[in-house]
Order: sequence, then C-alpha cells, then structure tokens
Amino acid sequence: MVGTHLRSVVAWDESSRPVVIQGNIANGIKLERPDLRCHEAGVESMQKENSEHVQCTYCLKAMSAIETTVDHVIARSWYPADTPPIAKWKVPACNECNRRYSAAEQNILNRLALCIDTGDKSVEPIVRRARRSFDPKHAKSARDAMHRFNKRQSLIHGIKQISNPKAPGVLPSFRENFGKGSSTGISIPAGALHDVIEKWVRGVHFCEFGHPVPADFEVSVQFVDDEVAARAFTEIMQFAKRIQKGPGIEVLIWHATETDESITQYAFNIWRQFRAYGTVESSGANGDTILS
Ligand SMILES: [Zn+2]
Repeated sequence: MVGTHLRSVVAWDESSRPVVIQGNIANGIKLERPDLRCHEAGVESMQKENSEHVQCTYCLKAMSAIETTVDHVIARSWYPADTPPIAKWKVPACNECNRRYSAAEQNILNRLALCIDTGDKSVEPIVRRARRSFDPKHAKSARDAMHRFNKRQSLIHGIKQISNPKAPGVLPSFRENFGKGSSTGISIPAGALHDVIEKWVRGVHFCEFGHPVPADFEVSVQFVDDEVAARAFTEIMQFAKRIQKGPGIEVLIWHATETDESITQYAFNIWRQFRAYGTVESSGANGDTILS
C-alpha cells in the first residue's frame, strides 16, 4: 500500500489545535539584533572545563561528565544531501533525553518525508531512507523485518482522506500538496512533533545564548500559515538573525528584551518545505507573543 502514489501527501497533525495571532512583539518592547556568541564548537571544551556542573539542555538535569552526551540539536538524518561540511548545532544532553528525542525525531522524519516533494533532489535520499524504514524487504534480520512491518501497519492505520486542506490539524506547510492533487493525509503524532520542535528551540537557544533555557522560562511551539507568519514578521524582519546550515536548514531568530523580561522567537525552515515556530519567554513576559 505504501507505493509511489504517496509521494506527495498532506501531513496531518492529530492535535487539531487552532493557531491565531495574538499580538505584536514590536509594541513597547525593545528589539535587538542578536549579537551572540556561537557555542557550536564549544560543547566539548565547555564540558571539560566545567564537568562538575553540566546541565542537560533539554530536561535541565545536572549531569556528571560520564552521564553527558553530545546531542545534535537537529538530528543529522534531517540534513539534506547538499549540506556542506559545516558545524552542526550540538549541545550537552543526558542519555535519556538523547535517546528519547532521537526516537521521536526519526519517527517524525520518516512520516514528514512521505509528504515532501522529491522534485528537490537534495531531499531525495531522506525520502528513500524513510520509505525503506517502512519496508520489510530491506530488513537485515527477521526481527528487523517484523519491526518494519509493524511500522508500516501503524502508518497505514493513520492514513486519512483530506477533503479540506484548511481543516484544523492539517500542517500548514503541507497544504499546497492538496492543490497539487493529493488528498492523502499521513498521521503525525502531535505530541512527538511538538516535542521535536521544542527540542530544536531549546537546543538552538543554548547555541545562541551559551546556556539552557532557564527553568522558569516558558517554551511554546506554533504551526501557522505562511501568510500569517509573513504578516506577523514583516515589521520585525529587519531585526532577525538568519542562520543557515546549508540550503535545507534555516533558522530565523528574533530577540526582544524590556527591563527584566525577554522574548526570543524562532522560525525553522526545513528543506524549504516544512516550517515550524517556537517562542522562549521569561516568566514575567505578558504572553503578548508574535504567534501563539
Ligand atoms: Zn535530559
């Protein structure tokens, strides 16, 4: 059943959470172009210097040197084939977070990959790997074959027919697939998708600011229409910092502070096809974020 006809499908976010614009970050808040140190290469040295007090970037647990792993913020498997040999974002993480997120990222990647347009040759290997992961024919052992078979059954169970691309739950980035003639929705576990984007936000935040998101700050994740995002971001675009990790992984960052409050907004553009947003707010901030 998982044949070539699934090449271009609509992703379906089971959470069906509506997303709306609540306000404008530019009102009364001082915007600053981030002028931040880059810590990508510094993870290992930092751990050595400070091995007694390393915190997990994600769960904030204090870790000894032996418990500390180096985690790729965006897993290596998400980078397209044409990514140059650049420093990828890496952060200290505990073993448990590293393992848990790695499983969630692989699951989400395999499902999103069935929705991306392989007209872009650099993402074709990602799609091929995803298809294989659901195909028992490519198994290396009987146990592996069963594992792939079960994954395929779960995928097939989650297939939905989409009659309206504007229905809540359709990931905005993939709505245009409907216009191209696809009405097949692939279920994406909403909780796992949220966790992966929150992980990216926390990881990139660490790389930009040199420390994890503090425990009393809030991290939120949003999925919005491109037009809605464009409207919300027009005024503040000039203040954004743009980081490109090759042509397929791009992050925009806005940072705003006002006395003891701060908001940092992240926009992820993956494979030029999948977009997600995240906000980090200090506890004193009033929730007047760009997207919510
Ligand atoms: Zn952890």
